Amino acid sequence: MTKWILPLALLVSAASYADCMSQPMEGSESHDNAKVFDSHERNYREPALTETGHLSVKGMQITGFDKNGLIKIQSAFNLMESVSNSLEFKDRVINFKNDKGQRAFASNNGLTNEQIYAIYMSGKETLQQNTPGEMNFFLKQYNRWWSKVIGYTSADVNLINVNYKFFKNYRPSDVAGNLTHEWTHKIGFDHASAAEHDSAPYAIGYIMDELAEAVAAGKLELHY
Ligand SMILES: [Zn+2]
Repeated sequence: MTKWILPLALLVSAASYADCMSQPMEGSESHDNAKVFDSHERNYREPALTETGHLSVKGMQITGFDKNGLIKIQSAFNLMESVSNSLEFKDRVINFKNDKGQRAFASNNGLTNEQIYAIYMSGKETLQQNTPGEMNFFLKQYNRWWSKVIGYTSADVNLINVNYKFFKNYRPSDVAGNLTHEWTHKIGFDHASAAEHDSAPYAIGYIMDELAEAVAAGKLELHY
């Protein structure tokens, strides 16, 4: 019986990954799901009490993109590295509250915000435990103009497939948010459905998108 469980789990994961990417990133701009505690609120946690790691963003294998696409990917990587290592990002992740108002992510695998932040900052992908301190990306662009899918990936591969149809209109900050969502899957987190916006992949992706957009627009100076 146990032999059934893993393949089935992978199948379910693969399905939900494709699902999550079928929502255009534009939708993430108007959401109010990245809720956090303010420093005067009772459950606020001082970020300084949580250890900070350091992450480098590395493109391991990037294929199928044209010159402009590669420039956009590099801009997104730069934003992701700046934001991920900032105190602002740490504060937002540590003090994130779910839709029930608790300082926790939905579908959190039983882990606290601090533990999820620590796993994120460790840079250890489920499939690549030997690359600590690195967000490793394997990206491949394809073009399906008739599809509603932004891109897809699955739990058993490193590769993230990116649909040019959506990618071409994205700002680097949108790409940063989207890739952060996907990478959060790569470190072992999932969402129950494409509507679970307070899950780690969605919520952390939104936090990244929002901070990256503010940085790119010159409206936010990050601290380290
Ligand atoms: Zn997802």
